Amino acid sequence: MPHAVSDLRAARLARSAKPFLARGGFKRERCAGCRLAPSHCMCALRPSLTTRAGVCLLMADIEPLKPSNTGWLVADVVPDTFAFGWTRTEVDPALLNLLGDPQWQPYVVFPGQYAAPERVVRAVELPDSLRGAAARRPLFIFLDATWTEARKMFRRSPYLDQLPVLSLEPGQVSQYKLRHSGRDDHLCTSEVAALCMNLAGEHLVERTLQAYLAVFTHHYLRAKNQQPIEWEGAAHQRLREVIGTPEGPGRHRPAAATG
Ligand SMILES: [Zn+2]
Repeated sequence: MPHAVSDLRAARLARSAKPFLARGGFKRERCAGCRLAPSHCMCALRPSLTTRAGVCLLMADIEPLKPSNTGWLVADVVPDTFAFGWTRTEVDPALLNLLGDPQWQPYVVFPGQYAAPERVVRAVELPDSLRGAAARRPLFIFLDATWTEARKMFRRSPYLDQLPVLSLEPGQVSQYKLRHSGRDDHLCTSEVAALCMNLAGEHLVERTLQAYLAVFTHHYLRAKNQQPIEWEGAAHQRLREVIGTPEGPGRHRPAAATG
């Protein structure tokens, strides 16, 4: 089923005069559901969760087109994922409506050193800590872009200026092997989302995002290197342990499997 990021990708492709060829990617046919080669499709592994927290992706122009973009994975896992293309001069009214919707408490996820100190928070309000009807659902806003673009987006989006800035200190090195930012502490969007879900007390979603990213990485690299999927490998086993998804097409879980 299409989601916010796949819709944004389709809209962006429709505006392109020339077909987009992913640099370093494979130029074979891709599954519309997961962007992988059909032989390495992982659509059957898409989790089905309910979450209290939501995610809003503000995506730089070509970000939805990159096969390695992990905002797509967030949209697979978190049902309330919204995605908007970012431009300096225009803002989608639907984005403003979302930010003004009283059911949500938006947080701009960004390093605190770039924001005025009074905006910076390091924790998310949890329902247990609030009394009565005041418990709004956290909405994590990610600037999905290169680091240079993200800083520009942060500076030039006045509709974000009044929102709290959630500053993360992950203290962990990215395991993500597909993209290299040159910063050791750089996390991909899906990893940042996992950390935010941890802060929101959504631990099943956090673990699912981590396990699903590992499965995607496996499928992506295997497709790139034209190697078969290891359906019984560590990444798939971990995802099954977390959410108990069905196996890949035509596969059966061994009777002796535990977990
Ligand atoms: Zn697929």
